Amino acid sequence: MNPCKCGMAGEPGHTCRKGPRCASDYQQRISGPLLDRMDIQIELPAVKISDLTLPASKESSADVAVRVAAARLRQRERFVKLGVGHLRLNAEADGTLLEEIVQPDQAGLKLMRDAADAMGLSARGYHRVLRVARTLADLDGRDQVARLHIAEALSYRQKLASFQAAA
Ligand SMILES: [Zn+2]
Repeated sequence: MNPCKCGMAGEPGHTCRKGPRCASDYQQRISGPLLDRMDIQIELPAVKISDLTLPASKESSADVAVRVAAARLRQRERFVKLGVGHLRLNAEADGTLLEEIVQPDQAGLKLMRDAADAMGLSARGYHRVLRVARTLADLDGRDQVARLHIAEALSYRQKLASFQAAA
């Protein structure tokens, strides 16, 4: 979504005609409970024309596709091993099954608990962070969800945290 009604909030040098309310009024149109159901909430700055002329990133789309296919295969094989072969992706795992497939290492678990308190995560939000962390570990080719994966998954929920702080 745009950051505000005029679409320019947060742009360097721009001040909305309605002031900060331009962004807060617009963003509050998405309710907290709806936003809580979104796994990844991040702010993206507008693309500048100068960015379009930069050399392409080192990892091609084809390279990324290979990594994603491998991560999906890991998920599929894990579910088969656990006797729930009708499931394919982490997105389909809930409750106790989700807790069974995530099980972060000690440091990851501590970070998760501290962050849940500090960010005021709901039970749903907590599970969503775990699920994203599981997928990040799969993309990394790891069986164990580590602190690094939890930290990255938490960083993708910054937006909701700032919404709640502003409300
Ligand atoms: Zn605006």
